[in-house]
Amino acid sequence: KKIVDRYLKGEILGEGTYGVVFKAIDTKTEQVVAIKKIRLGKQKEGLNFTALREIKLLKELHNPNIIELIDAFPYKGGLHLVFEFMESDLEAVIRNRSIILSPADIKSYLQMTLKGLAFCHKKWVIHRDMKPNNLLIGSDGQLKLADFGLARMFGSPDRRFTHQVFARWYRAPELLFGTKQYGAGVDVWAAGCIFAELLLRRPLLQGFSDIDQLGKIFAAFGTPKPSQWPDLVYLPDYVEYQYVPAPPLRTIFPMASDNALDLLSKMFTYDPKSRISAQQALDHRYFSSMPAPTKPALLPRPS
Ligand code: ADP
Repeated sequence: KKIVDRYLKGEILGEGTYGVVFKAIDTKTEQVVAIKKIRLGKQKEGLNFTALREIKLLKELHNPNIIELIDAFPYKGGLHLVFEFMESDLEAVIRNRSIILSPADIKSYLQMTLKGLAFCHKKWVIHRDMKPNNLLIGSDGQLKLADFGLARMFGSPDRRFTHQVFARWYRAPELLFGTKQYGAGVDVWAAGCIFAELLLRRPLLQGFSDIDQLGKIFAAFGTPKPSQWPDLVYLPDYVEYQYVPAPPLRTIFPMASDNALDLLSKMFTYDPKSRISAQQALDHRYFSSMPAPTKPALLPRPS
């Protein structure tokens, strides 16, 4: 069955946060694609201009570590977003017990993630919902960030769908404290959580509610002091809490290198103004020291 005479619809790949995703063939290019149909809900006026402008912006984000938005069009009450088809995602890699990730493999996955982020941040685009299953892996082993900008365009997914809990584990403390003026730092915090997850092979901070998520962060990194984070007391959901000292990061990551640990601590800086940027993280000595990151084509992947 054809959609707007260009795409040949295939099997359903899954039900996502915003709607159904199916495989298709782009008859214009013979390319295999994934089409995400986003329910537009009750708003009769349909797509507003802001969303259309955002989509135009996303179509112009061309980078090896960003998933390509090939096309976007409204059809049968849904906005259809056409992306390049990707074989796998980082969550599948992390969860697969038969895959061994060497320090060089972990460095490669983190570097690709940060390259995608640095590129978008330079263009003032924030992802806002980074998590391992949004980091797609192509047949060439390249990791590409998916779902860029969707959170801002269509609302935070987990506010609307209660079954969506996983993004919480990657949420920066300023978001949990209700900030409305968040910046690129939220993506760096999430990338830090993903770095930790690559090292531990399980999510580091598994909160079961937003309050519990903050508790998990405090237990891991200690409670933030006003001297470390001056703006904290002005955040909407700020409440006074009991002091928790920061245990040494080394206790959580006994096997990590000193450089890895130093970069982690900079990505997990409480004050978003002091947190390392994606570009600064790429320039950290973790990436220039041995071992060199594994070439994407040589990365282990699910068979
Ligand atoms: P979520 O909102 O939960 O992150 P998505 O809407 O991104 O989920 O995706 C739903 C399903 O479609 C997932 O199983 C995902 O693996 C698959 N999928 C999404 N994008 C692509 C793509 N570009 N290529 C292949 N599969 C994809």
